[in-house]
Amino acid sequence: MSQQNTSAMDTQAIQTLDAAHHMHPFTNTGALNKKGARIIEKAEGVYLWDSEGNKILDGMAGLWCVAMGYGRTEFADVAKAQMNELPYYNTFFQTSHLPAAELAKEIASVTPGDLNHIFFAGSGSEAIDTIIRMVRQYWCIKKKPYKNILISRENAYHGSNIGGTALGGMGGMHAQGMPMMPGVEHICQPYWYGEGGDLSEEAFGLKCAQALETKILEVGPDNVAAFVAEPVQGAGGVIVPPDSYWPEIDRICKKYDILLVCDEVICGFGRTGNWFGCETYGVQPDLMSMAKGLSSGYLPISAVAIGDRVANAFIEHDDDFNHGFTYSGHPVSAAVALANIQLMKKENIIDYVKNDIGPYFQQKLQDTLGDHPLTGHIDGVGLVAGIALVHNKDTKEGFPEDIDVGLICRDHCFENGLIMRATGSRMILSPPLVISRAEVDELFEKAKKCFDLTHASVNTLLANAE
Ligand SMILES: *Cc1c(COP(=O)(O)O)cnc(C)c1O
Repeated sequence: MSQQNTSAMDTQAIQTLDAAHHMHPFTNTGALNKKGARIIEKAEGVYLWDSEGNKILDGMAGLWCVAMGYGRTEFADVAKAQMNELPYYNTFFQTSHLPAAELAKEIASVTPGDLNHIFFAGSGSEAIDTIIRMVRQYWCIKKKPYKNILISRENAYHGSNIGGTALGGMGGMHAQGMPMMPGVEHICQPYWYGEGGDLSEEAFGLKCAQALETKILEVGPDNVAAFVAEPVQGAGGVIVPPDSYWPEIDRICKKYDILLVCDEVICGFGRTGNWFGCETYGVQPDLMSMAKGLSSGYLPISAVAIGDRVANAFIEHDDDFNHGFTYSGHPVSAAVALANIQLMKKENIIDYVKNDIGPYFQQKLQDTLGDHPLTGHIDGVGLVAGIALVHNKDTKEGFPEDIDVGLICRDHCFENGLIMRATGSRMILSPPLVISRAEVDELFEKAKKCFDLTHASVNTLLANAE
C-alpha cells in the first residue's frame, strides 16, 4: 500500500487497516479486530488525543515509561542530529561511540553505591535476560557453576521473553509457550492487603521475606545464584511492600551469599521519589535492570547496572562474555536517553516527585477515593499507586467472577478522558512525573466520577443477577 496520511483517514479506515495485518501484544486479537482498536493520534505533556478528537489524561505515562511527558521536542532534535551523524554502529567488535560511552557514565552518576558498570540492551526483557545469563556466568567464573537457581516471586513481572516469562510469576504467561526455562523458583509476594490475613503489616513483611530463607534452605544455599525482585511490583498491581520486607531480604541474601537483583524497569528514574526504587527501601543491589523511564519511552533502550563485585569478576576473567544484542548501546537511543537524564537533573524531577507532586498525588488519592464504596485499600508511593476494588470493604470480598470490575472501571475511564490501567480488580495509576498539581486535581476529579459510574454499573449487574 502506498503511503497514507493518517490524519486524512477516518477512524474506521485505520481500524480496518490495523485489524487486517496487525497482531497486538497481550491482546485477544480476534475480539479486538471485531471491535476496532482505539487510535491514538498525538500527545502533549500529560495528554493524548485519539482520532475522534478526544483529549485524554494519560494516568499511566504510556506503559509506565513517559516520565518527562510527551512533546519534548528537544529529544527529537537530539535524535535527528545523531541520526544524521551516526545512525547506527555496533559495540561488539572492539568499537564504541560517544553516545554509548557518555550514557554509561551518566547512568553511573545516578545509580547508588558501586553500580558503576553498564551493559546496554534494547528492552526491559533483554535486560532481564542479560541478568539471568550474567549472574549464572558470574558463579561459573567463581568456580561454582552449581549456583545457578534464580529465585523470584509470584505475580512478579520481568518481561515477556523466555527468560523473563519464566522468572516472572504470572500464571497466565506460564500457561502459554511451555515448557518454561528451568532453574527458577518462586516465593510469595509481599501483598499485605490481599494475603496478609490477621498479621500486622510489619509481621507480614518479615514473614514474606523469610519465605526466601525457607526456599534457599529447601533448594540448598550452594545452588542459588540470585534473588530477583521489583522494589514495588508494577504490572502485578502496584504491590508496595511493608517497610520490614526489604531489609530482611537484604540480610538473607548476604547471609547465604546470594546476589540481590532489583528489577528497576518501572521503579527506576524517579517513579518512587528517588532515582531508583532500591533507594526508597534502603537496599543496595548487586545488579539492577532499567528501561522504561531511561529514555522516557521516546526510543527503545535498556541497561543493566552492575556493581564492582560482579563486574570486576568479568573484567579480570580474561574471556569473552558471549552475550549481547545488535542494538546494545544504539547511538540514537543512547543520545536520547542521555538527553532525558540530563533533563531530569535540570528540572529536578526526582526532588519534585519526592517532596512535592508525589505527596500531593498520594494525599489527593486518599482524599478522593479512600472512602469510596469500591475502594478496599490503596497502595502507593511516589507517583505510582494501586487501588484494590472490592464488593465488601469489611470482608475484602471481591465481585462474582462474571463481573470484571477492573475492566468496567477502565472502560468508564477511557470514555471520560482518563487512562487508568486495570490489573484484575486493581486499578493502577502511574502518571508522567512532570504532572502538575492542577493536572492531578483533574485526574482525581475524573477518577472519582469513573469510580461512581463503575459502582452504578456493578450494582446494576448485581441486581440483574438476582
Ligand atoms: C515492562 C517491564 C519489563 C519488560 O520490559 P520490556 O521493555 O517490555 O521488555 C521487565 N521488568 C519490569 C519490572 C517491567 O515493568
